[in-house]
Amino acid sequence: MLKVDDTPFIRIENVTKSFGDVVAVDDISLEIRKNELFCLLGGSGCGKTTLLRMLAGFETPTSGRIFIDGVDMSTTPAHARPTNMMFQSYALFPHMSVAKNIAYGLLRDGVAKSEVNDRVAQMLKLVQLGDFGKRKPAQLSGGQRQRVALARALIKRPKVLLLDEPLGALDKKLREQTQFELVNIQESLGITFIVVTHDQEEAMTLSSRIGVMNKGQIAQVGTPRQVYEAPQTRFVADFIGSINVLETMVVGIDGPHMFLQSQMAPETLKVPLVEGLGLTDNCWYAVRPEKLSIGTTSDASDMNIEGVVEDIAYLGGQSIYHVKLTDGQIIKVAQSNRTRRDRPAITWEDKVFLGIDAGDGVVLQR
Ligand code: ATP
Repeated sequence: MLKVDDTPFIRIENVTKSFGDVVAVDDISLEIRKNELFCLLGGSGCGKTTLLRMLAGFETPTSGRIFIDGVDMSTTPAHARPTNMMFQSYALFPHMSVAKNIAYGLLRDGVAKSEVNDRVAQMLKLVQLGDFGKRKPAQLSGGQRQRVALARALIKRPKVLLLDEPLGALDKKLREQTQFELVNIQESLGITFIVVTHDQEEAMTLSSRIGVMNKGQIAQVGTPRQVYEAPQTRFVADFIGSINVLETMVVGIDGPHMFLQSQMAPETLKVPLVEGLGLTDNCWYAVRPEKLSIGTTSDASDMNIEGVVEDIAYLGGQSIYHVKLTDGQIIKVAQSNRTRRDRPAITWEDKVFLGIDAGDGVVLQR
């Protein structure tokens, strides 16, 4: 994996962008490091594209500042920034060959023809389209068109490449394959990529770090593992993957720990104290489906919750059990199907116990 330089390369300082009454980006501060592949992840309308367009210089912040490599770029026009943008639509010229499409920006800048030819050849090789230079975009597959667009965006050697849903036009299988190619290309070039996506699996696959966005704000920034294993808010927990959320109450505090009680079980969960929570406060305890155990008897887990199996989905590598608790809540449990032994002998309508270990989940404030 490419070594990411820890010093901030892009600094977004209290940036807000309003369109009339709509606040598309709401006071965002964020630092992106050199050589990172950073994903802006969020649902439709959360402001991802607007933030990307401000980095590119296609939109001016209503307030706040954007620094790239230490220079205030807030009002610098797009063409004078060390950035380039790749659009979801690719925007290739249909009448031009692949090579001409890639060469276009350099020729327009007056770069000598021999140098342009060399650089186009390098780019075609980089995106594994060495033999496709003479074809027209219409003679390419969706994945190949995507790579032409990437080559065209990279040929001017920007310090930062901004990609808006770069794989959005590809079908699922090609998309998964192309995700790895994109990471390989980014790592081989050592430039900073900022990718906008609404697809959490894609963000997890691509990113060194993810900025999860919600309603114009950054809800959390972290590595894929951090946002998955330690979501800081209910929004992030729900948005990334699947999670079970139990209603709990703080029933005891002991130094740096507190004890959580759910109405569903007699035992308590001993978890690190969370600032802002006191005795009798309600909070959520959230735990991923794969962290739970399931069996027909209770086990040595910190807490055992009783329920009845409502549904079982066989997904090949794992099975997902939907277990209905006595209060009606459905809890999802993922169990590996790696070996026969791994598979609990449990079927529909069985009474089961779900085992939770306190360290396997996170406490979320309400
Ligand atoms: P999507 O994934 O659907 O593209 P997004 O997260 O990229 O969404 P943005 O395109 O940044 O979201 O839009 C954020 C908000 O700002 C939305 O409510 C959108 O309607 C609004 N918006 C964006 N551009 C403009 C504009 N030029 N004029 C008015 N409103 C805009």
